[in-house]
Amino acid sequence: MSITRRPTRKIMVGDVPVGGDAPVSVQSMTTTKTADVEATVAQVYALRGAGADIVRVTCNDAEAAAGLGEIVSRSPVPIIADIHFQYRLALASLEAGVAGLRLNPGNIRKPEHIRMVARAAADAGVPIRVGVNAGSLDKDLLAKYGAPVPEALVESGLGEIRLLEEVGFEDIKISVKHSHVPSMVESYRLLSERIDYPLHLGVTEAGPPPGGLIKSVAGISTLLLEGIGDTIRFSLTADPVEEAKAGRKLLEYLDLRERRGLDLIACPSCGRAEVDVIEVAAKVSAALEAENSPLQVAVMGCVVNGPGEARAADLGIAAGHGKGHLFVKGRVVRVVAESEMVDALVEEARRLVDEGVEARLAAAESARETGRGAAGR
Ligand code: SF4
Repeated sequence: MSITRRPTRKIMVGDVPVGGDAPVSVQSMTTTKTADVEATVAQVYALRGAGADIVRVTCNDAEAAAGLGEIVSRSPVPIIADIHFQYRLALASLEAGVAGLRLNPGNIRKPEHIRMVARAAADAGVPIRVGVNAGSLDKDLLAKYGAPVPEALVESGLGEIRLLEEVGFEDIKISVKHSHVPSMVESYRLLSERIDYPLHLGVTEAGPPPGGLIKSVAGISTLLLEGIGDTIRFSLTADPVEEAKAGRKLLEYLDLRERRGLDLIACPSCGRAEVDVIEVAAKVSAALEAENSPLQVAVMGCVVNGPGEARAADLGIAAGHGKGHLFVKGRVVRVVAESEMVDALVEEARRLVDEGVEARLAAAESARETGRGAAGR
């Protein structure tokens, strides 16, 4: 099964395309004080390493705005400024060179201020996300609908888009986030029927893991599988590195981004297990977590599903009677005792990764040689 994505316009957030045929991108947000440039840049790098394509930072006061310029110039990914209440901080962020703005229609409400920001963003070639949030919905809409229902969120977003379009600004993406998963899903479904701007998906204020992860996966996956969504953010009450990791993994598991790093297939274990699957899987996961090459490793507790999964993965263990058959690329290479399983899997995994890297280097060298030969002819 492949996902047919709903057609949307493509915009550029710095050098990252969002919408159209662009890969679904991962976003996260720093938790540092933006005025603390060193801490913020360090966190941006950590987020990039964990899978974030785009990072948002708050621009909530003059000190934050003052730090933005250096953060933007040192960042390895496009930086978006998150703006609430003060349109002047949006203008200051544009001066600092950000790659995108997020405006909250619930708290920047004067049309002339929104239009002023739109004109400045147009001059800078910078897109704006209309970031509607159930927790900060425009109070007139809250009064009209009585609650932050999906129709209210959509009306808020469409109203802001109208203001931007009035001054010819269409470099837009939009989010309608809700902390209640069914309401979030319905909001985006309604919105996707009305506009073709790219959609930024998220379940807002999802909370700490595991609940926050489950809510985010439930809402974001439901929409992505329907072809709705161009960029995503997990809003976890946790180290934002966990958000970036989770977002990236979700897209990989849905085949929306290429695989990288470890994909651990492990059975949940049961009374039939012949080894401590939970311990072996946890140790293998910890040992290989930092690998960046795509690698599928199976840890299976008995012969019921063990040989099938271990054979299909890059490498795996199918356990039985305190020992296990070690499979590499579909073939049994040896039998290892339970006490040696972790070391054997990690050693073989590293060997496969090294072989893969060497093969890629050799292919690149061969391509260069071919290019030189062609150029010399
Ligand atoms: Fe249980 Fe075996 Fe299935 Fe693992 S593979 S869950 S041990 S039956």
